[in-house]
Amino acid sequence: MKNIVLFGPPGAGKGTQADVLKTKYNLVHISTGDVFRFNIKNKTDLGMLAKSYMDQGDLVPDQVTIDMLKAEVNNNPDARGFIFDGFPRTESQAASLDEFLKEKNTDIKGMVALEVPENLLVERLLNRGKTSGRADDQDESKIRNRFNEYMTKTAILKDYYQKQGKYYGVDGVGSIGDITSKLEEVIDNL
Ligand code: AMP
Repeated sequence: MKNIVLFGPPGAGKGTQADVLKTKYNLVHISTGDVFRFNIKNKTDLGMLAKSYMDQGDLVPDQVTIDMLKAEVNNNPDARGFIFDGFPRTESQAASLDEFLKEKNTDIKGMVALEVPENLLVERLLNRGKTSGRADDQDESKIRNRFNEYMTKTAILKDYYQKQGKYYGVDGVGSIGDITSKLEEVIDNL
């Protein structure tokens, strides 16, 4: 199975690239942010819980997120592999994912990270907020808090995967097509 973690700070372009890559490699795309937003829209208990964190730009608690992710994977028993987008975001999530995939006799082939400077990210997110309807994209203080969560809890995952020899950084500045090509060069060899 080709399981990939598509990594990068908020606004790096993970969702956009995952949409292209899932078709090219025939993988199931799981975006934990999208699953939470779907639950919020449908007013489920999970959605209500997640909303209180997401509205502030805080991370949703690990156990809630991990249980949800496992359910999404288990709902796709015929998948040839997964693109994990927005997950893992903490070391505990990464360790749970490794353990869970091991039980299924598979693993993460690589973490492919989109590297984009922060000033460009804020600009991209504020622009996205004009059309996405996402409350967490419309307020600069919430965006800053999401970066803070990223820097304090998520960025360390680079080390986590680097130690396993699985980290691949890709320059995330440029046209969508050029960035896709660079990602494909990495993913083709995983
Ligand atoms: P995203 O769509 O990936 O930008 O995620 C939007 C929001 O959903 C984040 O700011 C978090 O509040 C929540 N979220 C998404 N994925 C996770 C995760 N793996 N762990 C905790 N919270 C998450």
